[in-house]
Amino acid sequence: MEATQLVIIGSGPAGYTAGIYAARARLEPTLFAGIKSGGQLMYTSDVENYPGFAEGINGPQMMMTFRQQAERFGTNVQDSYVVAADLSQRPFKLWTQLPAGTNPEVFEVGSDEDILAVVNQAKQQPPDVEAQAVIISTGAVSILLGVPGERQLIGKGVSTCAVCDAAFFRDKVTYVIGGGDSAMEDTLALTKFAKKVTVIHRRDQFRASKIMQERVLNNDKVKVMWNSSLKEVIGADHVEKIKVEQDGQLQELPADGVFIAIGHKPVTQLLRDQLQLDDHGYVITRDSFSQLGLELARQHLDDHGLVKFPSMTSVPGVFAAGDVVDVRYKQAVTAAGQGCMAAIDAERWLELQ
Ligand code: NAP
Repeated sequence: MEATQLVIIGSGPAGYTAGIYAARARLEPTLFAGIKSGGQLMYTSDVENYPGFAEGINGPQMMMTFRQQAERFGTNVQDSYVVAADLSQRPFKLWTQLPAGTNPEVFEVGSDEDILAVVNQAKQQPPDVEAQAVIISTGAVSILLGVPGERQLIGKGVSTCAVCDAAFFRDKVTYVIGGGDSAMEDTLALTKFAKKVTVIHRRDQFRASKIMQERVLNNDKVKVMWNSSLKEVIGADHVEKIKVEQDGQLQELPADGVFIAIGHKPVTQLLRDQLQLDDHGYVITRDSFSQLGLELARQHLDDHGLVKFPSMTSVPGVFAAGDVVDVRYKQAVTAAGQGCMAAIDAERWLELQ
């Protein structure tokens, strides 16, 4: 079994930034990057709002640069998942072997039940790693609508990532569900290939940033169905039709591709019962923008009224950063900032042990 001071779980901007800071603090961190390292930015084309890249940067390229920077200072990056954790006492115990026969993408596409089954099965074996402190930066994955046909046709016309899959829809009829920045980004990615892109949105205005909305609404290839919702995806081996309700009327429309872009949920199934989560599964820290976060913070004020170790979770020695904590901003730059905070908090906390 490997014993280490600090384990970082996750390889998005929060995890790699924590790696950069922790390695420079000589904590010799081990970072578990998952099988597909890089987090949600691997599914993004151009990142135009990360300071320091005046011309924008391609998401995967940006994450490779983050990784190289973390490794340059000595972060030990492992391309495997933390599959299960026991945070009940220190040293914390972690399992990193996917049980034989497990779908390697279970943490991305599996249901909560599938993931919990993997966690429980992994724990039948002895743990693989012990750590004095842990930073959780497992991020978030796409939410599905839960309508008939959707899950069964993933990879057969249903996708959660147009940036990855748009090229397969050359001259095809496609739909994007959602009204946030992800939906706008997916729509724009599809306009480069598809014959037709229709955005299906449940309200009469988008939530996305104004600049993204303008790009979508000014594109001749795009139509919007306002006040509409997807009710069913229909097809035997691949998507053939969709059922949509608009203003109370149901209609069937021919379709080749359906892109679900209705937001993300935190990846915390392996932490259930290990530390405090909110009702939606987000990790609570002393810095969470919520009643629970405020309550936790109030219990940990120093003599000057400052919150001690703001990124610490309800378990001393376990810190969290990025989309797994952040219900509100979810930007690469905010996640990176939180990763920095978690690493500094972990370093200072470990010094006191
Ligand atoms: P989001 O901002 O939460 O938007 C989700 C969209 O899906 C909303 O329009 C919402 O409708 C709709 N929706 C949610 N549940 C639904 C349901 N059950 N049925 C139908 N529609 C549903 O999520 P996001 O677009 O994934 O973005 C998340 C964060 O990442 C945001 O902070 C965003 O700014 C950031 N992001 C940034 C970029 C970029 O800057 N390039 C790219 C992608 C994401 P309502 O509007 O009615 O609630």
